Amino acid sequence: MSESLCRLCNAKGTLQHSHILPAFLFRWMRESSGGGYLRLGMTPNRRVQDGLKRYWLCVDCEGLFSRAETDFANKVFYPYTSDSSSRIIYGEWLLRFCVSISWRVLQFYKDEISPTSLGADVTSRITEAEAAWKAFLLAQRQHPGPFRQHLLPFDAIGSITSSQDLSPNLNRYLMRTTDMDLCEGETASFVYSKLGRFVILGFIRQDRPNQWQGSKVHLRTGQIEPRKYTINGGFLDYLNARARLVAELQSGISPRQAQKSDEARRANVENYVGSDEFLAMLNDLTMFGEEAFARDDLLEEGAPKESKTSS
Ligand SMILES: [Zn+2]
Repeated sequence: MSESLCRLCNAKGTLQHSHILPAFLFRWMRESSGGGYLRLGMTPNRRVQDGLKRYWLCVDCEGLFSRAETDFANKVFYPYTSDSSSRIIYGEWLLRFCVSISWRVLQFYKDEISPTSLGADVTSRITEAEAAWKAFLLAQRQHPGPFRQHLLPFDAIGSITSSQDLSPNLNRYLMRTTDMDLCEGETASFVYSKLGRFVILGFIRQDRPNQWQGSKVHLRTGQIEPRKYTINGGFLDYLNARARLVAELQSGISPRQAQKSDEARRANVENYVGSDEFLAMLNDLTMFGEEAFARDDLLEEGAPKESKTSS
């Protein structure tokens, strides 16, 4: 590959084919699903083994990101995913990790989604946020200023009070789904990144910071603890809407692909039962009953049903 300019440091060099969301996340999804393939939320008709990659970074910047990823994976992601009552003390690497994710997802949105519906105010704030995140990552400024990062750990919800209908895949969405978005809201706009049980918000605008207490990622150190967060009520509705979007895309999966998934799961039944994916499914089943299986209707219409006794 010819030499190009690194998106982060502007140095000329051979660019690395690096992940937008980190590689460990997709490894975890494969290993904890009881199967070998992934169907990512937004492209359910494709079986893949990895997440999106782009030629954006030079070797040095790739190394900078991967050190923070390793810290996050080993000190936060895996301990919390296996035991959500863990109390985790973090260091300076956490803010670097969160900023690097928000910066990458923002690059993706600017390049490939180019949201045209955003207001002029948000568009200019995006330019400022991008510059602040970049300067922070390159150690040219001390902290990202008003473009704060929040980290929210989720788990199975058990019960929830909400004025609206909950999406029947909500536990699976909160516990396992990978997702990215650029959200413009009434009182806040942010880059949204979902990594298994964790949500990272990179704020572009945050009019009422007191509606988001306990989840801000501090510069030097802090503590991640479950169940001590104040989040904006509108944000719960947003999460539910994202879960519903994923459910709708999955219910539109072709009968052939649905059959493939079903066969793979049955062939691997001893790996699937007891996997994290199975646990997330059980939580939805307990909370929503048969609704959690909406996809089965499609199987009946479009593909021959197999005997349930195969194992
Ligand atoms: Zn670079």
